[in-house]
Amino acid sequence: MKLCLLVLILALGTTSFCPLVQQTLSANAPALQPSTFEVEDSDAYFQKATARKNGKDFSKEIASLVSRMTLEEKVGQMTQLEIGMITRGEGDNIQIDPEKLEKAVVKYGAGSILNVKDQALTVDKWHEILGAIQTASQRTRLKIPVIYGIDSIHGANYVQGSTLFPQEIGMAASWNPALMQRGAEVSAAETRAAGIPWTFSPVLDLGRQPLWPRFWETFGEDPYLATVMGVAFVRGVEGDDVSSSKNVATSLKHYVGYSFPLTGRDRTPAWIPENYMREYFLPTFAAAVKAGARTIMVNSAEVNGVPGHINHHLLTDVLRNEWGFDGFVVSDWQDIKKLVTEWRVAADEKEATRLSILAGVDMSMVPSDYSFSDLLIQLVNEKKVPMSRIDEAVSRILLVKHQVGLFDRPMPDASLKANFATDESRAVALEAARETMTLLKNDGNLLPLAKDRNILVTGPTADSLIPLSNGWTYVWQGNNSALYPKDRSTVLQAIRTKAGDKVTYVPGVSFDKEIDIEAAVQAAKSADVVVLCIGESSYTETPGNITDLTMSEPQLKLAERLEATGKPVVLVLVEGRPRVINRIVDGAKGILMAYNPSNEGGTAIADVLFGDYNPSGRLPFSYPRTPNGLITYDHKLFETENTSYGNTAFTPQFEFGSGLSYTTFAYTNLQVSPKTGRTNDPVKINVTVTNTGQRAGKEAVIVYVRDVVASLSPAGKRVRRFAKISLAPGQSRTLTFTLRPADDLSFIGTNNKPVVEPGDFEVMVGGLKQTFNLH
Ligand code: BGC
Repeated sequence: MKLCLLVLILALGTTSFCPLVQQTLSANAPALQPSTFEVEDSDAYFQKATARKNGKDFSKEIASLVSRMTLEEKVGQMTQLEIGMITRGEGDNIQIDPEKLEKAVVKYGAGSILNVKDQALTVDKWHEILGAIQTASQRTRLKIPVIYGIDSIHGANYVQGSTLFPQEIGMAASWNPALMQRGAEVSAAETRAAGIPWTFSPVLDLGRQPLWPRFWETFGEDPYLATVMGVAFVRGVEGDDVSSSKNVATSLKHYVGYSFPLTGRDRTPAWIPENYMREYFLPTFAAAVKAGARTIMVNSAEVNGVPGHINHHLLTDVLRNEWGFDGFVVSDWQDIKKLVTEWRVAADEKEATRLSILAGVDMSMVPSDYSFSDLLIQLVNEKKVPMSRIDEAVSRILLVKHQVGLFDRPMPDASLKANFATDESRAVALEAARETMTLLKNDGNLLPLAKDRNILVTGPTADSLIPLSNGWTYVWQGNNSALYPKDRSTVLQAIRTKAGDKVTYVPGVSFDKEIDIEAAVQAAKSADVVVLCIGESSYTETPGNITDLTMSEPQLKLAERLEATGKPVVLVLVEGRPRVINRIVDGAKGILMAYNPSNEGGTAIADVLFGDYNPSGRLPFSYPRTPNGLITYDHKLFETENTSYGNTAFTPQFEFGSGLSYTTFAYTNLQVSPKTGRTNDPVKINVTVTNTGQRAGKEAVIVYVRDVVASLSPAGKRVRRFAKISLAPGQSRTLTFTLRPADDLSFIGTNNKPVVEPGDFEVMVGGLKQTFNLH
């Protein structure tokens, strides 16, 4: 659904805002950045990213060590404590507390410590803390180093001055796994530079429930896109050799089904039948395990009445026996205790510990007391947990410690500080922020804007870095403005940099209150165009729960009043989930979805608004029109076609895959071969994409396939391949994709196994369609 630039240029002559556009188009749009990051075929990328070299064999070292360990030492390895258990003071004043450290690391032999007490620390402070921890670990009998873990969610976000990237939902909109991989490499290098070898990312939950307050931490609703992007994340973070000084171990989370709570609220029950679990929610994890991910974190909530932390089927039968995962499983925060207090599947913590360890949890994020160690020791002594299970868990933990290089180099390496926050890293973050930008509406080619017009900038996301980043930024909720860098631009500042004193700013409203709507309306009257930045402030987990997806009333009111002035309004959406905006969409001339692009986001947004960058993002989810209109793009066909009940359920505000460009792309010559084949023959797809406009641009090419008739009612379409390519004006490229029926044309049947059923299939790319038949 691309705009035809030529037609619009002609049409512009009749619009009131044509000078805005003409000037911008005429000249100063600089050439697009060289396209460093491209992917011609998502599958070729995926195959390469999941092909692993065999790592070094540490089995002898591990067996020898385990044979010398006491039960207390083994259980210590399985214990993860939070940093407050070894420190005193807060913020920049945090200090190691020698007595606490001695108790945690030397007496209890805690195998792991995590996160920040309060806020992001400097690289130097991290070195000081990690140095003290490892010095203590080297005073233990067996000198086993501690593995420190941290939530580096979108960069090393708990290290001051780190390079921060768009959150996953925006990265998904880039449809560019090569760019995701590069961002993840930077994130890993900066985490390692701080002395930390393990991150609790990526989130591989699917974003199919937009109310869920961690929606923005996902790669969106489609399992294939999320799988390829997830593998790219793992590849970038772990590299070819996770022990290298630029890589760290990942933790895939939150295994599995966490993101699909019926209520939409965090850590509430999900109901997912096994075949649906295998069709949608397991593939991201399975692929990332194949790509070599070293650890996995458990779903804090429950599926089908079984809390994630006691789900033996998922933690052992599927993860270990089916997929052969050889890393370790870590619990989420306090989740063994919550089996008693929240889920009530155990009468006391001891029973909860037994159930959880027997189900397959290897390490408990306890994290603020010593109950886990004490109880697990009792359980083994009482023969309620076999020593073999303990040895298995400890061996897995020691394996990862070996693999990340901790036994060779336990201490933080001062020389790595040079890898931190380089100019090149920042350039990648800017490129990523730009490539997430998704232009959803551009009536009359209002955008790009000329820089010499009077612009009113208003709205609660216009002049703050906080909503640009969202949660997991310097602090858990991302909401401490003092910690954000002073030299990064808000949207307002970035617009001012380009348009100078032509810019007027009136806040208008906060997220939940009116401030000066009247002043904004007056200012709009003397402006040529209004840039209204709305959305959400920062949040994650339970503090981010909402009961209504609708955009807040003050923001809608401000938009309606501004639209009523008749001045062209561009909505910039800075939000982590699709807040319903149906009241203000028709009245807006332009809509730019920015997601949470982080600290380079202000610049990236301004670059797109003024045409210094040609947008290429595509929505990785279905943007609902109404609070109850929650349905994903891969719905059943009758949901749109059967109108006999007057019920067309799928009428999203913006469809999955939407996204406009300042140029136009034509799709031609879609060919599928063979047209008739056997159910195990590969199917080849060719399509030619041409840039028919006047600007260089990037295009996400999305290949959808429909199984026309199937024994389980089929989805109307599914993404099976994609590409992200650059095209100069007039340039064409022919892309080739190959589908393997067993992987790409199968579905999970009622027996929970994949099946390819003979019959017709349709391939849909860029408005073209071809049919083939398998027999
Ligand atoms: C979150 C995890 C996170 C952990 C450690 C939990 O509350 O659910 O995603 O990794 O805390 O910070």
